[in-house]
Amino acid sequence: MTARKLDGKALADTLRAEIAARVADRIRTGKRPPGLAAVLVGENPASQIYVRNKHRACQTAGFASWVHTLPATLTQSELLQLVERLNADPHVHGILVQLPLPKQIDPDVVIQAIRPVKDVDCFHPENVGLLAAGHPRYYPCTPHGVVHLLQRNGIELSGKQVVVVGRSNIVGKPLALMLMQKPTSANPAGGDATVTVAHTRTRDLTAVCRQAEILVAAAGVPGLITPDMVTPGTVVVDVGTNTLAGRLVGDVHPSVGAVAGALSPVPGGVGPMTITMLLVNTLAAAERMDS
Ligand code: NAP
Repeated sequence: MTARKLDGKALADTLRAEIAARVADRIRTGKRPPGLAAVLVGENPASQIYVRNKHRACQTAGFASWVHTLPATLTQSELLQLVERLNADPHVHGILVQLPLPKQIDPDVVIQAIRPVKDVDCFHPENVGLLAAGHPRYYPCTPHGVVHLLQRNGIELSGKQVVVVGRSNIVGKPLALMLMQKPTSANPAGGDATVTVAHTRTRDLTAVCRQAEILVAAAGVPGLITPDMVTPGTVVVDVGTNTLAGRLVGDVHPSVGAVAGALSPVPGGVGPMTITMLLVNTLAAAERMDS
């Protein structure tokens, strides 16, 4: 591989140390540690791993962290009662309901029940609306992790041609919004880029991807992005987290490393940045609730 490595693990370690220092300062001045309550319903193995990793990251940074593990048979009204309790608990600054939820529970109803100020995933329509309007209360964690990984690696976004493959509400759509917006002091992750969003109905994905100076793959298809889709020197960010023959792989084929100018690895790229941005939002929520 000749591409420069966009090392999300190393950057996440640095950021988490900075966050832990700020938490220690809070505690020294008599304030509560930031508190994150995670809710895990059912026994989805990937969800169990995600929640465990978030819980560990919280503990290492000095946060209070609770994991509510509930059976797959839980009813929607039981889950809503728990959300209400967490909404009212002053020790809980952030609430994370791990998706997907079992079939009998409507995720939109649950997300809308979370107090927007405690919605550290930034999935509540109020927070999505603020983001779309360019006045974000929080940034959604994975898109923020991508933007931060680029910014902290000194990769200029302004005026660049960016292609995002994927238009989900969790990754592709909010990332495209952030990348296209003007940066302001209230919206520092605005990228000022020219953004194209590709999806399954895109004609000639290869031609679209080849226009990119920065290419972000968030499709959930192992090895979707191959070297012929990448103009030499392009910065490539791989959001994909897929399991293939028991191994964690991205959406970008490893051979792209010989063509790209820079490439984020999987694992060790966007994944650790996502969890770090959850810590950033939970600390910000605690600071909001101080006043
Ligand atoms: P999703 O909800 O399944 O959305 C996938 C998007 O990719 C859709 O918009 C889909 O298009 C598009 N797509 C799928 N196949 C395509 C193809 N062959 N060509 C062009 N577009 C295609 O997935 P997601 O939640 O956004 O997640 C995407 C990937 O990121 C997954 O691997 C997921 O595990 C990973 N992820 C990683 C992190 C992290 O922290 N590293 C966080 C979140 C997600 P349509 O809209 O037309 O269906």
